[in-house]
Amino acid sequence: MNDVFLKALPVLQKLTTAGFEAYFVGGSVRDYLLNRTISDVDIATSAFPEEVKEIFQATYDTGIAHGTVTVRENKECYEVTTFRTEGTYEDFRRPSEVTFIRSLEEDLQRRDFTMNAIAMDEHFDLHDPFSGQLAIQNKEIKAVGKASERFHEDALRMMRAVRFLSQLDFELDKETENALGSQIALLQHTSVERITVEWIKMIKGPAVKRAMDLLLQVEMETYLPGLKGEKVALTEFASWNWEKRTTEEAIWLGLVVAVKPTNVTAFLKAWKLPNKTIQLVNKAYQDALNTKEAWLTEELYHAGKAVFSLVNELNVIRGQANKQAALDQAYELLPIHSKKDLAISGADLLKWSGENAGPWVKETLDNVERAVLLNEINNEKNQLKRWLGYHEE
Ligand code: ATP
Ligand code: MG
Repeated sequence: MNDVFLKALPVLQKLTTAGFEAYFVGGSVRDYLLNRTISDVDIATSAFPEEVKEIFQATYDTGIAHGTVTVRENKECYEVTTFRTEGTYEDFRRPSEVTFIRSLEEDLQRRDFTMNAIAMDEHFDLHDPFSGQLAIQNKEIKAVGKASERFHEDALRMMRAVRFLSQLDFELDKETENALGSQIALLQHTSVERITVEWIKMIKGPAVKRAMDLLLQVEMETYLPGLKGEKVALTEFASWNWEKRTTEEAIWLGLVVAVKPTNVTAFLKAWKLPNKTIQLVNKAYQDALNTKEAWLTEELYHAGKAVFSLVNELNVIRGQANKQAALDQAYELLPIHSKKDLAISGADLLKWSGENAGPWVKETLDNVERAVLLNEINNEKNQLKRWLGYHEE
């Protein structure tokens, strides 16, 4: 048995010893059956949150309202969630209430796809009331129950379907695909944060081209931030070599390069990205549009390592040769890497000139910066002083 499950086994055993049912569920069981690397192990139990907290020494109330208690065991953290059904879905988003229950089968029934609705007990026996294993064998993404109803309950599931297609290189079963076509407009009620998570996972998947074909076929892009009417841009975007991606910022830079929004910041903000990402992508945008074959010294200097590395990454994704090593070396060899590296400061200029502060100080330092950068003068205090026309002491 997989080490990840063996390590988590005591959590199941402690729950069953206390008289409750407990199972591994969700993505970990699916990925185990697919022989994929298992990320996080989720545990479902008949114990109610307060009961879970009595059994384990270290617990955290991460999502207690939804029945999730984080349990620390064997120096790992596990999310232990009480079996639940989700009450009425009022606005196509999230259940308005969750009800804790004692039945595994009902808990599996509220899950999105049959491949995600398999449970594994402490003896590693599988409980699979919706034939999830068969779906996995057939490489099929199939909604649990009636697909259109399930998408109506929570529209994000449509995006999850497309994301799983990309991630697992599966197909959608016919009914699920038809429901996607008919229910897609409900996606407009879904929160952007949840959409962004699925979008990133979709681009990271190996079958991103096929996923994009389906996404465009059902016109999902209409409900994604800033992507309405961008079929051509998205087709080009998806044709790039995303398997060469190493950072998430490259996804966003690629997207703005493909779509060319009039306001890059507003476009990225609509996806609710962290400010750090927005700033970096913005800074890299012009250089990325120019598909830089070669960088001038000054361009490299003003871009900085984070920006030229990101632009290079996107260029690699778009099929250019990787220039990272050469760029790094050229950058290392620059005489300075910021104005702070200059051997003189504004204070020196004021002292030497005896003049008052003013815009001339910055202008002079800019000139010195350029001259030093282009190796017209050494970055040495006395030489710079002489170069500026002041006497040496
Ligand atoms: P990943 O490998 O990307 O984590 P995952 O299947 O574990 O994939 P999660 O988002 O971590 O996906 O969700 C864990 C499990 O919770 C899923 O396998 C599924 O059973 C259930 N689930 C998650 N989101 C939904 C949803 N929107 N509707 C119904 N069930 C869901
Ligand atoms: Mg998961």
